[in-house]
Amino acid sequence: MDLKELEDIEHSQEEREDFSGEKVKPIIVFYPKNEEDVVRIVKFAKQNKIPVIAWGSGTSLTGAVSCNGNCILIDFSKMNKILEINEIDWYVRVQPGIKLIDLFEELERKGFMLPPDPASFFLCSVGGAVAESSGGMKGVRYGSFREWVLALRVVLPSGEVVKVGEPLRKNRAGYDLVHLFVGSEGTLGIITEIWLRIIPIPKRKMVTIAALLKDFESAADVIIGLRKNRILPELSEYVDADVVRALNKHLNAGLKETEGGMLLISIEEDMVNDVLKVLEGKTVDVMIAEGEEANKLYSLRAQAAIAVKAESKNVFYAEDIVVPISKLPEAIRKLKEIAAKYNTKFYVISHIGDGNLHPNIIIEDKEARERAFEEIARMAIEMGGSVSGEHGIGTQKAKLMAEQIIKHNGRTVLDLMYEIKKLIDPDNIMNPGKYVELAYKYYKEFSSQTIEIK
Ligand SMILES: Cc1cc2nc3c(=O)[nH]c(=O)nc-3n(C[C@H](O)[C@H](O)[C@H](O)COP(=O)(O)OP(=O)(O)OC[C@H]3O[C@@H](n4cnc5c(N)ncnc54)[C@H](O)[C@@H]3O)c2cc1C
Repeated sequence: MDLKELEDIEHSQEEREDFSGEKVKPIIVFYPKNEEDVVRIVKFAKQNKIPVIAWGSGTSLTGAVSCNGNCILIDFSKMNKILEINEIDWYVRVQPGIKLIDLFEELERKGFMLPPDPASFFLCSVGGAVAESSGGMKGVRYGSFREWVLALRVVLPSGEVVKVGEPLRKNRAGYDLVHLFVGSEGTLGIITEIWLRIIPIPKRKMVTIAALLKDFESAADVIIGLRKNRILPELSEYVDADVVRALNKHLNAGLKETEGGMLLISIEEDMVNDVLKVLEGKTVDVMIAEGEEANKLYSLRAQAAIAVKAESKNVFYAEDIVVPISKLPEAIRKLKEIAAKYNTKFYVISHIGDGNLHPNIIIEDKEARERAFEEIARMAIEMGGSVSGEHGIGTQKAKLMAEQIIKHNGRTVLDLMYEIKKLIDPDNIMNPGKYVELAYKYYKEFSSQTIEIK
């Protein structure tokens, strides 16, 4: 292998770590300036059968960018431009390396918004968010990235470039390849350009209700109450009492500490009373914030994972389970039982309005930490839920993903996914050893066992 033919592309030799502490040890890191550079890197990787991993910002919580000494890392920080904001067709076209926060700010200046807002928006890249189909705090009303991507340019493992989709509100031409690449975690191709739907910033005044709850269970009761009353907030986010304490301790948040944690609900001003009615009897205190005060609460919620990481001294597993909303009370009860069994606390951060819970497991002993992680994920599978709502699979949840798919969808579905991976990436150079490929390996291991398909 002679890397000389790529030496005109900016590069470095360095090791990194993703947010979850997974090691990233590439042979070389390239910083392409354009799609042509990416094509050359991928063609070189194909010829030499070297794995290629795209790096957005490395905020992955699942080992999705991990590499153990044998990969080329493509760092997209130099491909970070907004190429077009179309104010009539309402889309934005960007390079993948742009930071989500920079895109948000530019769109806001033009009166537009891109709603999906992963709590890492101030760190992560748009390419990473698309490749993970990230969700976010406003997901309860607006969904995750999957719902906002219109089209993509992708460098396939062969080095060929395709454009999939169209920047149109409606398009029924052919199989939906856009959404095959969205959430594919860099295992099918490298995204070099992205068209995203945008909408005007709503004009109605929003307020944020900060409800200090009696207990964790009340959070589920409130969400169910909102749904029974046909109330769809823009934000319904929960942090438990330990996360509030961690925010105060590590980020000087100045939040009031109560045993039930804090639920944030953002809603149009004229619906505040409807929400307050639902909250009756479930809180110890309620504050209504707007403007700067509401922004501060939103920003603290976004930084909750940073506070938990500081509290854990960098050793934590972030769960990402989803349960049907109707099962939230049961899930919370069982989570508490599991925490008691492991004699620990779970530092729960949650997009609770989506049924998406992030118990953060801070148990020093690795084996026990893994056992607790699997137990919680299996609880979600049993409830008809998912092992991942938004963080994705990476290496961390491949086994659990296989279990979920086999139980809920059947073996043929996992076979189909693996066939797609093989078809598009026959040499297995795109982020190998993770996600569908790894799930399939696990599935092969336990395929002799009898598994019930619902
Ligand atoms: C503090 C914090 C809060 C978070 N909150 C949320 C949240 O609310 N919701 C949520 O969904 N996630 C959340 N996450 C997880 C993570 O931030 C998101 O998944 C994020 O969008 C990943 O972006 P990134 O640029 O860091 O991608 P990376 O971590 O660099 O990469 C993630 C995956 O995308 C692939 N990839 C990156 N760029 C490309 C490309 N151009 N082409 C193909 N593949 C590519 C990588 O290879 C990898 O598989 C959070 C993480 C942190 C640290």
